[in-house]
Amino acid sequence: MKYTHTIIACLVMIAGSLVFQSCKKESRPAVPGDMGIPERTLLKIKELGYSTFDVKKTPGGYIAEGDIFLSDEALVKTSITPSPLLRIAKSEQYRTNNLITGLPRVITISVTNLPAIYATATDIAISRYNALGLQLTFQRVAGGGQVNIEYASLGSGVLGRSAGFPNSSGNPPSPIQLNADANGLGSSPDVNYLATVIAHEIGHTIGFRHTDYFNRTYSCGWSPYPNEGDAGVGAINIPGTPAAEDPNSWMLACIGSGSNRPFNNNDIIALNYLYNGGGTNPVPDGTYKIISVHSGKALDVYNASVADGGIVVQWTYAGVRNQQWVFTYLGNGFYKIASVHSGKVLDVYGAATDNGGEVVQWAFAGVGNQQWKVEANGDGSFRLLSRHSNKALDVYGASQDNGGKVVQWTYAGVANQRWYIQPI
Ligand SMILES: [Zn+2]
Repeated sequence: MKYTHTIIACLVMIAGSLVFQSCKKESRPAVPGDMGIPERTLLKIKELGYSTFDVKKTPGGYIAEGDIFLSDEALVKTSITPSPLLRIAKSEQYRTNNLITGLPRVITISVTNLPAIYATATDIAISRYNALGLQLTFQRVAGGGQVNIEYASLGSGVLGRSAGFPNSSGNPPSPIQLNADANGLGSSPDVNYLATVIAHEIGHTIGFRHTDYFNRTYSCGWSPYPNEGDAGVGAINIPGTPAAEDPNSWMLACIGSGSNRPFNNNDIIALNYLYNGGGTNPVPDGTYKIISVHSGKALDVYNASVADGGIVVQWTYAGVRNQQWVFTYLGNGFYKIASVHSGKVLDVYGAATDNGGEVVQWAFAGVGNQQWKVEANGDGSFRLLSRHSNKALDVYGASQDNGGKVVQWTYAGVANQRWYIQPI
């Protein structure tokens, strides 16, 4: 997360109807020798894959990417490990080579030497993660947390920095430093804005790169020098996160002062992909669309029926209520999944146990053919298994058509049995 007065100044100028071009002139790229940074250091940072744009000197090292601390020692010792897969020119979610291991796992976080609102905001950030039902959860402790969030005077325009990414042992780095000076976040920032900053920095400690790491122009408005590169830590695309631009991701590089970015749909897919670990409660209670991996079409109550027995099909998503579903966790790994439109639930008709048994809507009665186990497939998608038959929600005949009917079938891992569950 890049935080500069330049960016804030830009937002102010936009509000004042001045042209954005005025801002760009303030954001000149770092060049060898700029800001007193030795050329050999900039070359090393570039060699590691980080952008040399706007590198800042800070005690004990440098800040690259806006908020990633590279110690002097790291710059001398770090060997370059190429990312196994580097994707360029898409806006998706990205992870580093190393992730947190040893799931399920609780990571403790302490907040020291900062105003009380920083602890409050940390609690909000933690609750955003913990609400997702991940196998990785966080707990705030009074001191000695595995990740300590601490005060640091980082200089004008730098709001915070992360110590980096998970190490090869699968542990998070520490500390996260936040600049509570008046030239940084200050002593009384908006609490949700502060929670977003903290959630972002925690995101780095568990292996998230910037969503727009390849194109900082997207959130920062900088041009040229937009690509942070592989950075020697990997930039691996997370499957299931759409390639479309992602305007509200919590891992975008830059944020305007005061903005709040709770997890968006793609953030949740990415976090589930990396850290749900096959948990029995991988989807928080809420309202979702259910999208076939195979066809890209949405689970739909045909013709907006409100009747018991109304059939369930796939249809191009149009944002209507008969394509929206309320997930309610019932315990023991099972969910009730109700149409927003009718209030009726996904039901295997007649409690069939055969392949091809039709899926319809019916008033909820708590029976097994109205309960669904939701399991992560490890690619960002889920399978939905009927409790009474253990068969999977399936687009019949792998249809691509609007109106293609939805049935149950023995799970075989094929795309017409896999679904993206995306919050509305
Ligand atoms: Zn960042």
